[in-house]
Amino acid sequence: MPSDLKILIKHQDISKAVDRLAAEICKDYHGKNPLLIGILKGSFIFMADLVRKINTPLQVDFVRLSSYGSGTESSGKIKVISKLTEPVKDRHVIVVEDIIDTGLTTQYFVEYLKRKKPASVRLCALTEKPSRRKTKTKIDYLGFTVPDKFIVGYGIDWDEKYRYLPDICYIE
Ligand code: 5GP
Repeated sequence: MPSDLKILIKHQDISKAVDRLAAEICKDYHGKNPLLIGILKGSFIFMADLVRKINTPLQVDFVRLSSYGSGTESSGKIKVISKLTEPVKDRHVIVVEDIIDTGLTTQYFVEYLKRKKPASVRLCALTEKPSRRKTKTKIDYLGFTVPDKFIVGYGIDWDEKYRYLPDICYIE
């Protein structure tokens, strides 16, 4: 592992959290054929692990969002840059996100989805940084709360690096 990284959450603990979230989703959505929408690219590994543990029929889709404006922090001005391929109307949708930081990205996307008249929308996030939240968007299924550090690994990148790491790490 690169020397400037420290492990924050080991892959065994990520697996246990994924099992827990999948069991909760399975219980709540049994027989409802939910549509899980992953926000790319950061959610791709989490989504792949999660759906294989949800023991009820479901469908998946992905979107790519971009935050525009200056600075490293989410500006709240978000664009959908690759569109959904599955119809959302009357579906039970679960948005799958890697990190809820300020919450602005997810808030924007949930509002975008609601205009398409789904039967319901819930949010499943692998991690949340509560100290940085600027929105009240409810996280229905949460893996971990994390400190205000820049995290990478398990699908999450820094400048397209480190997505392949099995653990969630932070940059010192
Ligand atoms: P929000 O709109 O909630 O502030 O931003 C969410 C997005 O910001 C995440 O999907 C992710 O792309 C990026 N982000 C926020 N915190 C981190 C972090 O600690 N590490 C990485 N790699 N991206 C982050």
